Order: sequence, then structure tokens, then C-alpha cells
Amino acid sequence: MTTTAIHSAAHRAAHPERLLEPDWAEITAITPETEDISTFWLRFDGAAVQERYRYQPGQFNMLYLPGYGEAAISISSDPHNPQRLVGHTIRFVGNVTRAISRLKAGDRLGMRGPFGVPWPMHAIEGKDVVIASGGIGLAPLRPAIYHILHNRERYSKVILVYGARTPRDLLYSNEYDSWRKADIDVQITVDRADETWSGRVGVVPMWFYHFRVDPRKTALLTCGPEIMIRFVVFEALARRIPTDQIYVSLERNMKCGQGACGHCQLGPYFICKDGPVFPFSALERYFNVEEF
Ligand SMILES: Cc1cc2nc3c(=O)[nH]c(=O)nc-3n(C[C@H](O)[C@H](O)[C@H](O)COP(=O)(O)OP(=O)(O)OC[C@H]3O[C@@H](n4cnc5c(N)ncnc54)[C@H](O)[C@@H]3O)c2cc1C
Repeated sequence: MTTTAIHSAAHRAAHPERLLEPDWAEITAITPETEDISTFWLRFDGAAVQERYRYQPGQFNMLYLPGYGEAAISISSDPHNPQRLVGHTIRFVGNVTRAISRLKAGDRLGMRGPFGVPWPMHAIEGKDVVIASGGIGLAPLRPAIYHILHNRERYSKVILVYGARTPRDLLYSNEYDSWRKADIDVQITVDRADETWSGRVGVVPMWFYHFRVDPRKTALLTCGPEIMIRFVVFEALARRIPTDQIYVSLERNMKCGQGACGHCQLGPYFICKDGPVFPFSALERYFNVEEF
């Protein structure tokens, strides 16, 4: 695996206390994003825990609601946020997330983490960066965007292509202008337009036909529905972006978050501890497995 995996192992070794016991955190605010997605802003109960908690773009927490269980949720906030509120953008799909949808500001959640291999923000410095994302897949990429905003001079051209089913399903739409002002080329597309929409219509991988990349100096970060990832990677490979410059975040069904239960296994990898971010060079052999 890559240096990011090594980093993650070091991080886990340095924070063994964060693996098993949840810390408790208060929901300080809830930002509705779409009909079935909201961002929950959390602050740890203990000042010491709050003070030492650090995360990197692409990492996730296991959120715990007593009586319902745990769910893996990416951290969607700014790792440089001085107040260090931890944001989680959650789609309400099942047992745990639907129960979380009924919580209010002031309620509390258990939180274990941060887990996982982050996006390789240092390894890709100096490169053109293409961020291709669909639906709630923008959540784990937003911290990477914030990192780029804080360190814009370290990256060359930065292009974000983000797609959602309809304009109502777009996440964080009030932030696109500020990202554009920081010299990020933000391209938004929807599968189906409505009367409010005058922008691009079409799926994310189609966007690759609208621009040229210099494969030697381009890094691709992608997260979204697996079908979108598959076609984005195909388009990137067709443009000869090297497989070790294509990074994919996989959000497979996960239970323990620490490589014990095997729910999230892909070939020899556990998405929870070897990922969720992988260079495509590591996944290539397993690309045709049915679930991918
Ligand atoms: C590393 C990682 C990061 C994630 N980040 C986020 C995030 O930021 N926001 C968010 O809303 N969700 C995220 N998820 C997905 C979330 O963990 C699952 O949707 C989780 O199962 C929700 O728990 P639940 O009890 O509400 O639903 P469940 O009752 O477990 O499942 C509801 C339904 O969704 C299906 N399902 C469960 N997990 C997945 C999955 N990963 N992919 C496809 N179908 C699934 C189940 O088969 C079932 O049909 C992430 C998952 C991983 C592994």
C-alpha cells in the first residue's frame, strides 16, 4: 500500500484509545442539505477530547446511537476549522441514519474515530487535481476542497466535477461561488433538469469529453455511486492518467470499522482500515468483482 496507508497505521497506533470506546458529542447544529440529507455538527463533551481530536480529509467516524447501533459516516467539515466542530453529512437510509434524522440540536451521539486512510493531499501537491464526485460522494471530498482552499498555491489547476440526480439533490450549493473565487473550476451537472436549472445536464463521466488533461501531471480523486466511479475511472484510464494517480474512496457496507468483521472486505483489503481511499493501482485486480 501507499504512504497514506502507512500514515493511517501510525495514526491508529498513536491513538489506540479511539478504536473501541465511543466519545460522546453534542449536536450543536443541523444543516438541512436536501430532502433526505442533513449535516450534523458535533462538539465533544470533554474539552480534552475536543482539543486532541484531529482528522484529515477523507477520514470517517463511526457514529453511535444507543438502541440503534453504529454507522460509518465521513467527516465533511474543514480540518482547519479553528472551532473544530466536526461535520457529518448523512443520508437517511436505514436503521441508524433514520434514527439520527429524528435528533435535534442539543442531543448527543457516540463517536469513534477518526478512521481510515485519507486523501493523499501531500503526495499530489504540484499536480493538476481533478475531483469527480456524485451525490453524497461530495461529503468526503469537501474536506479535501477546504484543504486545497487553505493551500491553493500548492496545487496547479483544480477542477471539481460534481453531479446529482436533480438540482434539488446538489449538496453545498451555497459554497460553489466561494470555491470558484479561489480558482477552482467548479462544473456542476444534473441527470435531470427542472424548471430552476439552466446548467449542464448529463452524468459526471461525460464531462471528460469537454476538456483535456495532461496525464503526467494530473491526479484524480473520486467518490460517489460505484457505477459512477467505474465510468470515471474508465475515462481517466482512456486519457492515460496513471493508475497510481487515480484515488478512489469506497463506501462499502461496514460494521466494526477496524478490520475485524470482514463486512467491507474487497479482495485482501478491508475498506475500513486499508481504505476507504485507495490508489486505483491497488484495486485494479478487483475492479471486475460483482459489487464494484
Ligand atoms: C467509509 C464510509 C464512509 C461513509 N460515509 C457516509 C457519509 O458521509 N454519509 C452517509 O450518509 N453515509 C455514509 N456511508 C454509508 C453509511 O455507513 C451506510 O449507509 C450505513 O449502512 C447507514 O446505516 P443505517 O443503519 O442507517 O442503514 P442500514 O440499515 O445499515 O442500511 C440501509 C440500506 O442501505 C444499504 N447499505 C448500507 N450501507 C451501504 C453502502 N455503504 N453502500 C450501499 N448500500 C448500503 C443496506 O444494504 C440497506 O439496504 C459511509 C460508509 C462507509 C463505509
